Amino acid sequence: MATGPHRPQTGDLRWREVDVLEYKAEGSAPFRAVTRQVLFDDPALACQLRYFEMAPGGHTTLERHVHAHAVVIQRGAGACLIGDTVYRVAPFDLVHIPALTWHQFKADPAEPLGFLCMVNAERDRPQLPGPQDLARLRDRPEVAAFIAV
Ligand code: MN
Repeated sequence: MATGPHRPQTGDLRWREVDVLEYKAEGSAPFRAVTRQVLFDDPALACQLRYFEMAPGGHTTLERHVHAHAVVIQRGAGACLIGDTVYRVAPFDLVHIPALTWHQFKADPAEPLGFLCMVNAERDRPQLPGPQDLARLRDRPEVAAFIAV
């Protein structure tokens, strides 16, 4: 993917030469109304910077993996699960998702939720929760009320 050194913003969190992609292949994992844009993907950096956006009521996949995420919220309102805790998030909040920690982002019903996400360029495949994982997560009522699978 050859891209110029300067790629101006062309709209509301859209950029020149940056395609708006599906979050994941449909049917590969549970999610709802999420787009993905890969902003930086330089092998010299060993990391990628992506921008994800959920439409109102949308959510990312509940997953965990060995690689970590560093997230900066950019727009909208919503919440995220990290481990066994649900946090409200707002623009410019920082969210760190450590290795092997269950996580999921969800936009509020009437608001989008957009965030920058830095991730390792080389990374393991996300794991999805099995029945026992879900039962353990649902031990906490706030988590049971939050998660979408
Ligand atoms: Mn993840």
